[in-house]
Amino acid sequence: TISKAEGLSYSFFDQQTQSILNERYQIESYLVDALKKHELSLHYQPIIELNTRQVIGAEALLRWYNPVLGQVAPDQFIALAERNGQIIEIGNYVLHSALKQTAYWCQILQQDFKIAINISPVQMRNPRFGEHIAELLTLYQLPATALELEITEGMLLQDEHIAHHAISQLQELGVHISLDDFGTGYSSLSYLQKYSFDTLKIDRCFISKLEHSEQARELTKAMIAIGKKLKLKVIAEGVENTFQDTFICNDDCNYGQGYLYGKPVTPEQFEHDFIRRQSTPFYKTEPN
Ligand code: C2E
Ligand code: MG
Ligand code: MG
Ligand code: MG
Repeated sequence: TISKAEGLSYSFFDQQTQSILNERYQIESYLVDALKKHELSLHYQPIIELNTRQVIGAEALLRWYNPVLGQVAPDQFIALAERNGQIIEIGNYVLHSALKQTAYWCQILQQDFKIAINISPVQMRNPRFGEHIAELLTLYQLPATALELEITEGMLLQDEHIAHHAISQLQELGVHISLDDFGTGYSSLSYLQKYSFDTLKIDRCFISKLEHSEQARELTKAMIAIGKKLKLKVIAEGVENTFQDTFICNDDCNYGQGYLYGKPVTPEQFEHDFIRRQSTPFYKTEPN
């Protein structure tokens, strides 16, 4: 009976694996044409300064709508695009599109606005990446201070030298670098020692547990304190309710991002909600 059960579970597993592989293959085959078929776009999510309650910038987040597959989440296709090299082209699209949009919004606002763009390790491996960014800033006539590049811990692990070079080149330009998903990698603290960042983004997995976990509260406080000690800006990601908002405000976190302040939306919606009404603070409820 044991071998029969094993056989059954094996064939079940096999079918499941097969369907996952099929799905990946399908996603990959559609992804190849996604750019030229204009299926990719960017959504923008506000980042707010907690003490003034003002929107100070946005994170650009990639969206893919395919007529057959429907909406496909970045977590389902970015890694794939990194493996087949397509992330270079896609990443370039993201940079051009987001910088062009930001230049337009800066014109309307006549004040500082910062765009945060996620960068893949594969993009950073290009030794000319820094120059490429400098060229794009010139092309769209944006100051380097309008740009923040978000990188995750995983990416740095692989090529320490190249990452070092790219980061310092970008920082010399005046571009800020933020460490995304802070606290989730295996070596968060050693990264802080090895590289110089401007910003820490505390991962959503800590913020989402604040109400129910003493441990999450202590860890979040500790991460904010580390950021402060190192004179970094700290952004809490995934803030969804007022409890979380109050908690991070009381703990002197500088910035917040999450559904409470605004979900990622189309550029048209973002412009309507935040760019054209900069005079009033975006968020009515003051923290207690
Ligand atoms: P990330 O950079 O950490 O982005 C934050 C993610 O959290 C986004 O998911 C955003 O929609 C989601 N989020 C924001 N606030 C909340 C909240 O209050 N609650 C919840 N439940 N979620 C929230 P998204 O857009 O699915 O992106 C997932 C990841 O894909 C990103 O994580 C980033 O690592 C990657 N990604 C997205 N766009 C790009 C891109 O243009 N280039 C690269 N290389 N990676 C990208
Ligand atoms: Mg990010
Ligand atoms: Mg993140
Ligand atoms: Mg993430």
